[in-house]
Amino acid sequence: MDKETISNYRKAGEITKECQELSRKKLKVGSTLYGFAEEIESAIIKKGGFPAFPINLSINHVAAHYTPSFESEDILPEDAVIKVDIGVHVDGFIADSAFTMDFSEKHSAMVKASEDALEAAVAMAKEGIEVGKIGEKIEATIRGKGFSPIQNLSGHGVDEYDAHVAPSIPNINTHDTRTIEDGMAIAIEPFCTDGKGFVREGNQAEIFQLVEEKPMRGAEARKILEFISENYSTLPFAERWIQRDMKISEFARKVGFRELMQKKCITAFPLLKEDEGRIVTQSETTLLFNEGKVIRLL
Ligand code: MN
Ligand code: MN
Repeated sequence: MDKETISNYRKAGEITKECQELSRKKLKVGSTLYGFAEEIESAIIKKGGFPAFPINLSINHVAAHYTPSFESEDILPEDAVIKVDIGVHVDGFIADSAFTMDFSEKHSAMVKASEDALEAAVAMAKEGIEVGKIGEKIEATIRGKGFSPIQNLSGHGVDEYDAHVAPSIPNINTHDTRTIEDGMAIAIEPFCTDGKGFVREGNQAEIFQLVEEKPMRGAEARKILEFISENYSTLPFAERWIQRDMKISEFARKVGFRELMQKKCITAFPLLKEDEGRIVTQSETTLLFNEGKVIRLL
């Protein structure tokens, strides 16, 4: 990795860390999730970064991919266990991170289990290690505390303007023998639950990503596609960003999105959920592997 790349990654990590601290201060029971999301995302931009994806604020049994819709009045409920998943990029170089806040004060052991699993994984992560071995360690740490890892969620590599690349970093022992190599940037993210350890897709999706640019029939789809390509490139974006920044009607946005989805120009990230009534916690950080050294971004 060249110096400029490393320095962009480091800056992304610093901004992420500051935004995590800001989140811990600002997020309260009764907070409007929309207002909070916009506040954190604008802080990212003020600090010289850009959201690598919309802030994820998944609550209780929702494990990932919730972000508020445009002007949503959803608030942080009492007793919420919320995963604050923040991604920042600087010139396309991404720091991906998450932590869990427990407003119920009933799930601190589960919060700690995902934190401990992350620390155990970070401690062993180095060039040449098999990713299955990292998964084995995460699984053992979480099971050792009486919880289950979520089997079908995993960490991942990140690359320039690409939030999810190979290799996957599993949260269980998959016996995957692929190894971490020099020059990789890797996000590790243990998810821990008192449920069965498996998430399903919900119907709702607020987060999307450009797949392929194709000719569009409708003017709405054409304009939205142009906007996405120019502003977010191949990184995930929120429907609310489109609504806010393009200043189009909700109807125009829906018509445009329908065509973009039908033609598979964009793909959706539906909510990922454990069973209703269960709790999920998450901890995540991003590491760089450079010439035998491990650089933790935050
Ligand atoms: Mn993340
Ligand atoms: Mn991630």
